[in-house]
Amino acid sequence: MRLPGRLVLLGHPVAHSLSPVMHNAALAAARIPLTYELLDVAPSSLAEAFKTLASYQAAGNVTVPHKTAAATLIGKVSPVANRIEAVNTFHTAEEGGLIGDNTDPVGFAALVRATLGREPRDAHFVVIGAGGAAAAVLATIESWSRCTASVYSRNSKRAEHLVARFPDVARVQTLTDDEPMPGEIAVNATPIGLGNDDLPVQLERLDRNAAVIDLVYRRGETAWVRCAKADGRVASDGLLMLLEQGAAAFEIWFGVQPNRDAMWSALKEATDRE
Ligand code: NAP
Repeated sequence: MRLPGRLVLLGHPVAHSLSPVMHNAALAAARIPLTYELLDVAPSSLAEAFKTLASYQAAGNVTVPHKTAAATLIGKVSPVANRIEAVNTFHTAEEGGLIGDNTDPVGFAALVRATLGREPRDAHFVVIGAGGAAAAVLATIESWSRCTASVYSRNSKRAEHLVARFPDVARVQTLTDDEPMPGEIAVNATPIGLGNDDLPVQLERLDRNAAVIDLVYRRGETAWVRCAKADGRVASDGLLMLLEQGAAAFEIWFGVQPNRDAMWSALKEATDRE
C-alpha cells in the first residue's frame, strides 16, 4: 500500500468536524501510520493549498465551503464529482496530480437504505435545500428505479439551477410557510438544526407516513429527527451518512475497507449516542 504524504480535511471553519475522530479510529484499527489533520483554509488560499498538497502527494476530504470550488481547482475529477459539481474526497494519482471524487451519494444511499430497511423504488422525495448536499441527494435519487424529487429552497434561482441539471427526476416547488409537501421521504439538505432546535419544516406539512432523513447530525439527535420519532415516523439523522461517505473515502485512499465498528464507536462516543 502506497501511503499519501498527508491526510487532511480542508474547510473553513473546520475545528468542529467529527471526521478526525472517525478517521483516526479507522487508521489506528488498520495500523496505518498517518494522522488525519484539520486544515482551516480561507477561500482565497484554496488554490495555493491544493498546489502544496499535490507536492506532498496528499489525500483527504473537502468540506463547507470549499466543495464546489474544489471541483474546478482540482484538475481531474471522477464522473460522480463532475455530475454533482462538487468534490468531498481527493487523492494523488500514481503519476502525480490530485484527483477529486465525491462519496456523499454513497453515504446518502446507505443512510436511506438503513432508514427504510430497503432500497427505495417508485418513491417521491421532498428535498429541502438546493446546495451541494442536495445535488448529491439528486444524483443518488436518479440512480434508483423510478424515484423522483421536489426541491424546496428559499433561493428559487439556486433551486432552478440545480433542478436544470437533473431534469429527468427533479422539479422545483415553491417554498411556502404552510402548504403540504407530498412525498414518501423528506430530506433536510440545509444546515437548519445544526446548532439549535429549529426545524427545516413542520412535520404536519409532510405526508402522514413520510420518512424523515436529516443530513445534519449533532450531539444527541437533531430536533427534526427527535420530533419525527415522537410522531411515530421512521427517521434518521446524518451520522450514518458521515460514516459511510468516510468509509468510501478511506477505500479510495488505501484500497481497503476500513473497520466500520471502530469508526462508529468513535462517532457515537463523540455524539453521546447509545
Ligand atoms: P450549501 O451548499 O451551503 O447549501 C445549503 C443549502 O441550505 C442552500 O440551499 C441554502 O440556501 C440552504 N439554507 C441554508 N441556511 C438556510 C436557512 N436558514 N433556511 C433555509 N435554507 C437554508 O451546504 P451543503 O454542502 O449543501 O450542506 C447542507 C447541510 O448538509 C450541511 O449542514 C451539512 O453539514 C450537511 N451535510 C451532511 C453530510 C453528512 O455526511 N451527514 C454530508 C454533506 C452535507 P441559500 O442558497 O439561500 O443559502
